[in-house]
Amino acid sequence: MNLILLGAPGAGKGTQAKRLAEKYKIAHISTGDMLRDAVARGSDLGKKAKEYMDRGELVPDDIVIGIVKERLKEEDCRNGFILDGFPRTLKQAEALDKILLELGKEIDAVINIFVPEDEVVKRIAYRRSCRRCGAVYNLIYDPPKGDVCDKCGGDLYQRDDDKEEVVRERYRVYRNRTEPLIEYYRKRGKIIDVNGTRSIEDVFNEIVRSLPKKLNF
Ligand code: AMP
Repeated sequence: MNLILLGAPGAGKGTQAKRLAEKYKIAHISTGDMLRDAVARGSDLGKKAKEYMDRGELVPDDIVIGIVKERLKEEDCRNGFILDGFPRTLKQAEALDKILLELGKEIDAVINIFVPEDEVVKRIAYRRSCRRCGAVYNLIYDPPKGDVCDKCGGDLYQRDDDKEEVVRERYRVYRNRTEPLIEYYRKRGKIIDVNGTRSIEDVFNEIVRSLPKKLNF
């Protein structure tokens, strides 16, 4: 099963993508996680990406498309994948079509998680991420048991781009550049709309219920 998750920053894409990847045993491909990892390692890619990420802007299409193209060829994508945070522009969506055609794969469904701006800003201000394993918590909705990560004991921190001003810029970028993709995929009959303002569990159950029956194995 090959899925795309669309939604504003803070809509819960990462959380839902992790759960879906576990349930369906498919690869979770988060371009945000891959870029943050490159920044943490200080690689050439990381150095290029950091300045855009810190400002809440999109990393140039060519860079991100290159990363995804390589990632989709890996062994763990054979059973399927879930793209979280990609594509984010029309150019990326068109490039993805081409890559999938070359690989003989296709997208089964595009899950569009909707959450209004104020809710997004509120959620992200309380978001904390694990520096070691990337687990994500919310101090209000999904708090860790203590000061460190429940899963691996790593340090919890607030992403630089999770500060309010940067979040508002990321939301603006989402509206201008990524929202048009909803129509792009709706025209192809691939969109599943999900109200993302409810609990993690409710949103997850709705996604699972809404996936085309033939995919629910
Ligand atoms: P995310 O964790 O998905 O919110 O991504 C964090 C940041 O990484 C974004 O604000 C962008 O700067 C960058 N990024 C992640 N995915 C993409 C993408 N598909 N295209 C361009 N930039 C991206």
